[in-house]
Amino acid sequence: MSAPDGSPVSAPRYVEVAVPVPLRKLFTYAVPAAWSARVHAGVRVAVPFGKRKLAGFVVRDLTTPPTTARIKPLASVLDEQPVFPAELFSFLVWAADYYIHPLGEVLRAAAPALASQALAALRDEGFLEAGETLPGRRIATRRVLMVHATASDLPAQRLGSSQQRVLARLLERRELPLDELRSEVKNPRAVVRALEQKGLCTTQELEVPADRFFAAEITREQGPTPNAEQAIAIAAMLARLGQGGGFLLHGITGSGKTEVYLRLIAEARNQGLGALVLVPEIALTPQLVSRFRARFGDDIAVLHSDLTDRERYESWRALRDGRVQLAIGARSALFAPVDKLGVIIVDEEHDASFKQEEGFRYQARDMALLRAHRTQAVCVLGSATPSLESYQLATTGKLTLLTLPVRATQQRLPPVEVVDLQRHRSGPGGMSFLSAPLTAALQRCLAAGEQAILFLNRRGFSPTMRCEACSELLECPACSVTLTQHKRAGVLRCHYCDFMLPVDAACLKCGSKPLTELGLGTERLEAALAERFPGARVARLDRDTAAADGVGAVMERMRRGEIDILVGTQMVTKGHDVPGVTVVGVILADQSLAFPDFRAPERTFQLLTQVAGRAGRGERPGQVVLQTYQPAHPAVLCASTHDYHAFCRAELAARQELGYPPYSRLCAVRIDAGADEQARRIAQELAQVVKRHARVRDASVALLGPAPAPIERLRGRYRYRFLLRAEDRRALRAVALAVAARIDEGVAPARASVDMDPVSML
Ligand code: ADP
Ligand code: ZN
Ligand code: ZN
Repeated sequence: MSAPDGSPVSAPRYVEVAVPVPLRKLFTYAVPAAWSARVHAGVRVAVPFGKRKLAGFVVRDLTTPPTTARIKPLASVLDEQPVFPAELFSFLVWAADYYIHPLGEVLRAAAPALASQALAALRDEGFLEAGETLPGRRIATRRVLMVHATASDLPAQRLGSSQQRVLARLLERRELPLDELRSEVKNPRAVVRALEQKGLCTTQELEVPADRFFAAEITREQGPTPNAEQAIAIAAMLARLGQGGGFLLHGITGSGKTEVYLRLIAEARNQGLGALVLVPEIALTPQLVSRFRARFGDDIAVLHSDLTDRERYESWRALRDGRVQLAIGARSALFAPVDKLGVIIVDEEHDASFKQEEGFRYQARDMALLRAHRTQAVCVLGSATPSLESYQLATTGKLTLLTLPVRATQQRLPPVEVVDLQRHRSGPGGMSFLSAPLTAALQRCLAAGEQAILFLNRRGFSPTMRCEACSELLECPACSVTLTQHKRAGVLRCHYCDFMLPVDAACLKCGSKPLTELGLGTERLEAALAERFPGARVARLDRDTAAADGVGAVMERMRRGEIDILVGTQMVTKGHDVPGVTVVGVILADQSLAFPDFRAPERTFQLLTQVAGRAGRGERPGQVVLQTYQPAHPAVLCASTHDYHAFCRAELAARQELGYPPYSRLCAVRIDAGADEQARRIAQELAQVVKRHARVRDASVALLGPAPAPIERLRGRYRYRFLLRAEDRRALRAVALAVAARIDEGVAPARASVDMDPVSML
């Protein structure tokens, strides 16, 4: 506490500090009077913790004096300024509380960039051994000279022709990097300097990280004129700039959603507001980044996992200081310290990757809405297949629904042919997975010199091996899943823990050979196609080939027309835009329907719609062939008619009947241990805590389970789980808090976690 004039008063002051340990509590320290002025929320401090010293964050002042007698003082104050902007810090405190997760871990997850910097600070304080080094390589940076126009018209005074040309460019673009003027005049540096002396422009040197997203040259562009639907959406969003508002932009694939984001962000930038763009997987979206660069230049922080610690820190600093006001990244970019945040975009908002599935299990899409709300930013959730949760928010008026019903380039959505595999047992040549209609479509496509994409959500050659002697399926010794055969790599591999056996291994149960190959993976499909269509250039895109070649490289070959048929897992369904693709085939549409997850139909519908959207994006019309054993399932049927609303109606009715989200809220409690017995005992103990709780006894919260998880064993650990379900969020939270409190008392040797609004049901 301090006196009104700011000088310390004699009453001792205490603060609560978030320490990076997995405990759901804050720790109290005394503030030495001499440091009082420097200690406030968000500042890092070094604190004695047991025998160690740790860097923690000051969260708040303790309003009532602590009851315990021995409170240790802070060891030192590490920052002059709070590390996080105040808005971001209080948002993180809120999020930790919402997800019932230790704040110290949340802060570390939010700013991995700071971890190494904290080390440096501790070392400066003498806490670390001398010689302990800072992780991270030297960052490769490029200096970029930005030129800003200060004039708004061509001046009355006469200019030389070079200056005239440069100024004209500047007036039309307002700001651009010096490099872009090289095509305009021979010596742009000198011309700009002359204009600067006349007060017609200013320059500013920026240091930007040199990274692969910025490697290619980009031509700046203005973008197309928005069509009527886009214009309506843009106007609605612009009207809320600076005040805040949540939008659901439902636009079919290729309808120009990205163009809407670009226009909104352009205007935000004009008003000095920053923007944050979240995408499912940044590695799969080099095209998106290129479009942002083409519009806004290289003044963009692209946050991706290949950044070195130091690059990450540099990007973080640039955003924190407001030197860069646009950040693009996957889930964790939600925590980017964008200055004067005015816009948050969540592209492909239905994508499950927005949910973090370990440690701090947050849902970036939900948190984006919340962060936007707290900063009065405009938040746009965009998708061709919005999640039912978001759809429900739009129907109840919590989000404004905006629709882009047609493709921006005037192509129509491709017609979809549903092939019932019950009736089309075996296609030509006895290949059960290539039906006659799909074969015919591929033949026509190849003959016309067009391209095809075939989607199969299983990598490897065959997903299951069966012992011919004892009929056992070959399972991973550490996980309750079968081993997948990868022929090219010559191994049988567990897709969960990477356990491997040689491809000619004997049965783990009875020791005999041989094993029969069951089922179909992308590798087998690729081989079968090469055999069936000898002249065609067949390639494969899945996690196995992406690791070797890179997704970008494969898609680039596809765009250059060097591949005729591309086979792949869901990597091929994401936003790629390849104009030459006219045929899309789905080998087994109901594959993902079999998942033990109440969202399986929704996922399937989204996946099918996304993959169908890859067809016919260029000049020539597309065609989709969808093979399935369940042609009447709403997920299949509605995807084939491109009818999102019909799917929502059917699926929402099913959810309501079963009491699943969005008609209820869930919390998953997961338990695992090295021995089945330990895991089961803790699961039962935690369930007991639930059963004793008043909110469960009065039936406002339901307990589902405990039961073994669908994958009972993973990496050698036995897994149990139960769900809490309630209509009222506060009732659910009260019970979840009681479970968390019991977990904090200790569950060793088991581990247990609380997952609010769970996505994965495995
Ligand atoms: P989405 O994000 O909905 O898939 P995009 O924004 O990528 O759609 O647009 C699809 C294609 O249509 C892109 O090539 C884009 O440049 C083009 N496009 C978008 N809006 C327009 C428009 N108003 N006029 C012409 N072309 C457009
Ligand atoms: Zn056997
Ligand atoms: Zn395994």
